[in-house]
Amino acid sequence: MKKEVVVIGAGIAGTCTAVQLALRGHSVTLLDRKSPGRETSYGNAGVIQRDAVEPAGFPQDWGILLRAAFKIGARVSYHGGALPGMVPILARYWSNSRPAPHAAVAKSHSRLIEHCLTEHGALIAMSGADDLIKREGYRYVYRKPETMERQFKRAQRYAREYGVRFSLEDSAAIAALEPALRLPVAGALHWLDAWTVNDPGALVGRYADLLARHGGRVVLGDAETLQQAGKGWRVESDAGRIEAEQAVIAMGPWSADYAKRLGYRFPLIPIRGYHCHYDGPGPALPTVDVDGGYMVSPMQRGSRITTGGEFGHLEAPSTPVQLARAEKLARDLFGLGERVEATPWRGARPCMVDLRPVMGPAPRHPGLWFNFGHAHQGFTLGPVAGRLVAEMMEGGPTFVDPAPYAPARFD
Ligand SMILES: Cc1cc2nc3c(=O)[nH]c(=O)nc-3n(C[C@H](O)[C@H](O)[C@H](O)COP(=O)(O)OP(=O)(O)OC[C@H]3O[C@@H](n4cnc5c(N)ncnc54)[C@H](O)[C@@H]3O)c2cc1C
Repeated sequence: MKKEVVVIGAGIAGTCTAVQLALRGHSVTLLDRKSPGRETSYGNAGVIQRDAVEPAGFPQDWGILLRAAFKIGARVSYHGGALPGMVPILARYWSNSRPAPHAAVAKSHSRLIEHCLTEHGALIAMSGADDLIKREGYRYVYRKPETMERQFKRAQRYAREYGVRFSLEDSAAIAALEPALRLPVAGALHWLDAWTVNDPGALVGRYADLLARHGGRVVLGDAETLQQAGKGWRVESDAGRIEAEQAVIAMGPWSADYAKRLGYRFPLIPIRGYHCHYDGPGPALPTVDVDGGYMVSPMQRGSRITTGGEFGHLEAPSTPVQLARAEKLARDLFGLGERVEATPWRGARPCMVDLRPVMGPAPRHPGLWFNFGHAHQGFTLGPVAGRLVAEMMEGGPTFVDPAPYAPARFD
């Protein structure tokens, strides 16, 4: 039966949910306080990471933790004032990231990841977005041979267990492949299956255009006005009042705070990150400087440095110290030029303490659905998550088992 649905949040998760519902003939409104793809889904590194078969968790390596504690390097930082309040949730995150629970989560996570190229591919084709996509993978470069050796073993395991493909490039090969490299490096690991996007926000915009072509509406409004009305939901927008039988909360890192007012306590950790674009030379393929702890991606606006994680409150003022450190390291490595924008962008990865996103029906509110918590791989997983939630909303069989993601696990 065809339904009226309002999807709140026009990042990659919400936009893809809206598209999947519209493709199934439902009447869909996508509502956001900004236009589609202007927040986390705009500012990321743009990698559709087919190789991310195991979720990123809280580091277990004492060397990394000690460096983070003393705020050394560009990889991890934190706001001292926020930390005491975050200790209980970080302790759960750390505990769930230990090898045994992590291995269990990886099983279900890899089943989502294995569909990322097919699901993005279908939407890219339908939305005519091929001009934004490169299908040549991306690289990890290593300054230290021992880091390369360790990660090579992990890559071999991924190839064996999950069938993802990679190649190793030695110091001379990578120097020839990436002429912008100015320092000798130990080597590189090229993940071959990933796709990369030169403007992630624009890709979300194309998916929103696809929604409009299939009868969906994109409107401006605020979730603050969403309320239950009879058997459905009502929200105010610039196009007037919207009444819908079903509503989907896909507000990325803002989802948990919003859900609190409905009585749900979702343990979401916003892991903040920054980016800035640079003119001048840069890598041809998106490249992680593994020992440096940041990434550089070629984008339409220039080379985009994206930083590692910063622990702090979602809306606390920006403290882009990691970006300053990464910028110095990236200038030495690639010879990047000047900053393109005066103020760095800031966003936050919506990470759940159990390393699993929240996808499914709200336990105590009929007609309300959740789709958030996609953490470090939300841009990769948006189309997969959108399809899964749309299929659950239709009540038929789903292409992936949704049980691990049930919102009720936190209720
Ligand atoms: C530095 C960095 C690099 C990353 N790199 C990658 C990568 O290479 N590959 C990858 O797969 N993932 C990457 N990620 C993660 C990825 O970007 C996120 O997981 C993903 O974008 C989350 O999408 P989303 O739709 O859930 O959230 P968002 O894109 O944040 O969308 C949420 C939407 O909700 C809206 N909203 C919030 N509050 C309200 C309100 N009150 N009313 C109405 N609307 C509201 C916002 O305006 C926003 O548009 C990266 C993240 C960061 C920070």
